[in-house]
Amino acid sequence: PAADPPPAEDISADDIFIAVKTTKKFHQSRLNLLLDTWISRNMQQTYIFTDGEDEELKKKIGNHAINTNCSAAHSRQALSCKMAVEYDKFIESGKKWFCHVDDDNYVNVRTLVKFLSQYPHTQDMYLGKPSLDRPIEATERLGDNKMKPVNFWFATGGAGFCVSRGLALKMSPWASGGHFMNTAEKIRLPDDCTIGYIIESVLGVPLTRSNLFHSHLENLQLVSRSEIHKQITLSYGMFENKSNIINLKGAFPVEEDPSRFKSVHCLLYPDTPWCPPQVAF
Ligand code: UDP
Ligand code: MN
Repeated sequence: PAADPPPAEDISADDIFIAVKTTKKFHQSRLNLLLDTWISRNMQQTYIFTDGEDEELKKKIGNHAINTNCSAAHSRQALSCKMAVEYDKFIESGKKWFCHVDDDNYVNVRTLVKFLSQYPHTQDMYLGKPSLDRPIEATERLGDNKMKPVNFWFATGGAGFCVSRGLALKMSPWASGGHFMNTAEKIRLPDDCTIGYIIESVLGVPLTRSNLFHSHLENLQLVSRSEIHKQITLSYGMFENKSNIINLKGAFPVEEDPSRFKSVHCLLYPDTPWCPPQVAF
């Protein structure tokens, strides 16, 4: 007989904590698009981590808009500072799954729920898409000027990744409170690499790969219309100096919907009031 399928858990969207990393200068240009599309259907599970006060944002999402008080710079320290706050808020929330995304990601929450249901949240689970085709080579600073080479895989933050509560609790000595910043400084790499370092290198838990997470570092033209509903995350942006968006003839032309997220949203939620009638596309 075939091996038993992995233990399935009956989870709902409410069991997931979705952290969206943003910065004040992207509230208008990026975050509003997410609030109008996927977040509008998932207000209860989405938390926005930013670096400035915004009354308009608070009106829309209340205390799910979290001012991390981290610097608004694109520095390693500022980004690690935000990830540290995301981690602490997740632990505080009591939810079963921590998922992190960037503000240029569309999250298909229905598919995310189905995907996470395959795994037990009490076990050690690190799910995402590796950013490189090999482990990253880093140097760990041990103190006393000693250095140690380390190799590990990490999930690219720009495609989104998820960590089970069971694993997140084990990460605490390296991730909670001020520890995440210290850990990030030990290897001097960005926040998503630091997550991979703690999980793979320190705790010895391997990354479980999924091709359903997408960043704009890959060719998004390869995601076809018939497959869109199966994807967990999508993105848009630049890749090798060219605009990189999914190829979808949808509800809106590219001029009106350059990211394609509005068209994706109408495909997934055709009953949305601002979507044109389905027969139109
Ligand atoms: N970001 C940030 N502070 C900054 C610049 C960017 O928190 O000063 C966030 C941004 O909102 C996004 C992520 O970092 O969620 C990645 O930024 P971006 O997409 O601009 O760069 P990428 O690394 O994807 O090229
Ligand atoms: Mn990006």
